[in-house]
Amino acid sequence: MKIFKSIEEMRSACRAAKRADQRLGLVPTMGALHEGHLSLVRAAREQSKVVAVSIFVNPTQFGPNEDFSKYPRGFDRDCGLLEKEGVDLVFAPSVEEMYPDGTVTWVTVEGLSDKLCGRSRPGHFRGVTTVVAKLFNVVEPDLAFFGQKDAAQLAIIRRLVRDLNFPVKVVGCPIVREPDGLAMSSRNAYLDPQQRRSALALHRALLEIEELFHRGEGNPQMLICAGKRIISQESGVRLDYLEIVDPDNLEPIPQTTWGQPPKLALSAVEGAVQPSVARPPHNALVAIAAFVGTTRLIDNVVLNLT
Ligand code: AMP
Repeated sequence: MKIFKSIEEMRSACRAAKRADQRLGLVPTMGALHEGHLSLVRAAREQSKVVAVSIFVNPTQFGPNEDFSKYPRGFDRDCGLLEKEGVDLVFAPSVEEMYPDGTVTWVTVEGLSDKLCGRSRPGHFRGVTTVVAKLFNVVEPDLAFFGQKDAAQLAIIRRLVRDLNFPVKVVGCPIVREPDGLAMSSRNAYLDPQQRRSALALHRALLEIEELFHRGEGNPQMLICAGKRIISQESGVRLDYLEIVDPDNLEPIPQTTWGQPPKLALSAVEGAVQPSVARPPHNALVAIAAFVGTTRLIDNVVLNLT
């Protein structure tokens, strides 16, 4: 396994792999690796010849009062785990390498970046899309692997790739959970034992929504209320948001479009004259974010509407 800290060296190692016609898969991470990250690495291993993992705690996606400085870091442990998974290339640049003095260029996926976590964390997704665009430019991967755990991020990156024509296939990977259901997260390390128990309320709320939906409750507002009730019963948990949205555009799904057949509508693109088919979403993303103490956790489930 080769470890690079400079953009130039990482780029030439990646180009060498690609010159040899080897499919290159990239797994971007902020380190403090757990089984969720490793599931992405395994998917990359299966689908690509050369696997690259980036470890970079990206300061531009943290707000001024967020946990950038105390975010868990464990580079040697992370490298040990990646070596065992057969990773070929690790990219671990410094902040100065990624953002030299005078950096003023940002990549923003407008609209989507203000929804869900983007509403409570202004500028967060701008930081994410900027660093992902930079990583794509350095590594030039054929495939890039992202977790469904960060469902809004996944939707935004898919849109980034589409809108900027990055020649990268984005692969979404399922959420990996602890045996009791808590979604794995590097931030779980912040929780004390009592908070760790309280944190299960997020998963319980999602399970309740899923069960009510399968029993025939079709009103998103009723489902949201049921989930909120579960959260309110756990005194150590403060809800940030609980929303049911279209997983592609992150817009709330009105009840009237659930389960309806596609209907014709004029394209929303300005100047377009062709009618386009407005399809109600096939899936609904139930996304939750909540504070357990000062730790902000997120989780989600997808409901199949068809
Ligand atoms: P992070 O290090 O938190 O930036 O996460 C790096 C990648 O790992 C992102 O694509 C996350 O969505 C993904 N990831 C984090 N936690 C999980 C999990 N529990 N299951 C699956 N993927 C995850």
